[in-house]
Amino acid sequence: MNYRHSFHAGNSADVVKHSLLIALVRALQQKPGALTLIDTHAGCGLYDLGGDQAQRTGEAAHGVVRAFADANPLLDDYRAAVRAVNVGAEPHLYPGSPQFLAQLLRPQDLLILNEKHPEDASELRGAMRGSPAALHERDAYELWLAMLPTRTPRGVVLVDPPYEQTDERARITATLAAAHRKWAHGVTVIWYPLKDRATHQQWKNKLRNLGIPKFLVVEHWLYDADMPGIYNGAGLFIVNPPYAFTQALPPLLEALRAALAPEGHRGEISAYWLDD
Ligand code: SAM
Repeated sequence: MNYRHSFHAGNSADVVKHSLLIALVRALQQKPGALTLIDTHAGCGLYDLGGDQAQRTGEAAHGVVRAFADANPLLDDYRAAVRAVNVGAEPHLYPGSPQFLAQLLRPQDLLILNEKHPEDASELRGAMRGSPAALHERDAYELWLAMLPTRTPRGVVLVDPPYEQTDERARITATLAAAHRKWAHGVTVIWYPLKDRATHQQWKNKLRNLGIPKFLVVEHWLYDADMPGIYNGAGLFIVNPPYAFTQALPPLLEALRAALAPEGHRGEISAYWLDD
């Protein structure tokens, strides 16, 4: 386990992932019933954008910093959630998914966080002190299945792995199939990086073969043509997204595309059903 999210916190992928997570949970919270929020790969919870690791990559400059330079009100909720962990208007600290989720909790909701890397798990414990979250240091895929079905009737599982293992996509596919058998109505969000269109297409074909209905694909391509060998963008698979979320999605995606477009590129963000 070499991956450390502190090198990447607040990058363009985090902006899209965390913005959509806020919108998704808020849509589910239009109903009063309790939610269980499960973050299988939680990371550290809070990141110092001025720290050595973040400064070495400079990725936040293309993500959260652009989102803060943008005035589109559709990104207000995201900016407010980042501001909530900062003193002053500018983002010096970046909240990880555990902090975004903790901010959204209502009294009836539950939060379960899991992080296997011992150092990150220890930082997570510190970052989440005072929050009602339950913390685990287990293998994400084992925990994912062990927590289903959730204790509350509704819930969201966020799966956000580093993709440093060659079998990561295969483990996700197998665990999602098993999770769907135990919890067919649950909402699952899976983050993925985009390297090239062929790899992405092959994985989508395998996921389509699972036959899971209501499987939304969100793809954010940063550049106007594939840039070989580098990170080309990222996306989310969302199983069972609520109607209120999918209805409000197109203008939010356009706001994110416009805020995050690299110099000289328009980029593209789309959302479509896997079986269309
Ligand atoms: N979800 C976080 C966020 O949005 O702020 C970022 C998570 S980061 C992309 C992935 C995390 O998964 C890393 O902290 C890594 O240590 C952890 N991890 C990797 N493999 C894991 C496994 N098999 N089980 C649990 N955690 C794992």
